[in-house]
Amino acid sequence: MVTKLKPVQHILIAAGSLFIIVNTASSQVITNKHTSAHKNLLATQDDIKKEIALVDSLILSYYQQSEENPAEDLYGDEWDSKRVDPYSGKEIELPNSLVIDCSTFSMPVNKTYITSNFGSRGRRFHYGTDLKLEVGDTVYAAFSGKVRVCNYEARGYGYYVILRHHNGFETIYGHLSDFLVTEGNEIEVGQPIALGGNTGRSTGPHLHFEVRILGKAINPVDVFDFENEVTHVDNYVFSPQKLAQERKIAEKYTQKRVSYYKVRKGDTINTIARKYGITVSRLCKLNNISSKKTLQIGQRLRCS
Ligand SMILES: [Zn+2]
Repeated sequence: MVTKLKPVQHILIAAGSLFIIVNTASSQVITNKHTSAHKNLLATQDDIKKEIALVDSLILSYYQQSEENPAEDLYGDEWDSKRVDPYSGKEIELPNSLVIDCSTFSMPVNKTYITSNFGSRGRRFHYGTDLKLEVGDTVYAAFSGKVRVCNYEARGYGYYVILRHHNGFETIYGHLSDFLVTEGNEIEVGQPIALGGNTGRSTGPHLHFEVRILGKAINPVDVFDFENEVTHVDNYVFSPQKLAQERKIAEKYTQKRVSYYKVRKGDTINTIARKYGITVSRLCKLNNISSKKTLQIGQRLRCS
């Protein structure tokens, strides 16, 4: 569900006055375990979080459930079956705030874990979350919608699919080995759309997963809790301010690619370290284990 809102100023003013009440109540929560400097730091973080939550909830209370397909309202006639972001540079204005219904969703990959996050990678910005999979694993539609792009990019996404969802998001699935859909197909949430792979700029089988709104990438971790296979919120509130704030935070932390190895019969810490060209002590440090530890078959070790 997407609704564009105009009276943002009122919302912020309302949030400002309510904020004082919330703030007073929260000061009792802080325990005396911390130094006063630490206490202040925690309190500041708390306040920011509360302020965001409050503005979000006020925006939420404004939106009316109206359109059946909010994407139509947001994207209009814009349809490009080749490019990832055909919107930037055109006269399309980002809405001041936008509420996106995330209540029906599906994990893009089953039983997965994050191998790299959204954020800066030196000169290149990493616009998605990398999720572990094996070549040939099924990749599922995160929400219902329509296939906008099935394409190939040798130096980037490899084989990739872009879905435009009814809720207003677009999601991108990269490094695939095969397509199970074609452009224009209507897609149900959870429908298999592709097989995972290692194509394009990729150093091992994984899914590169992006969430975008009008071409602007947001941090998928803000919507999805990949570990618990749920979404953090039923309604995601988007605003250009939040986008800018998020980008700033992500640029602070350089994201390194992380690789894992699944222990097989006959492996030792020595042989695995040699395989990845790292020392035994580095391998032990990465996994917080002793070099004398007995490895279990199937155990996952971080190797970079
Ligand atoms: Zn990636």
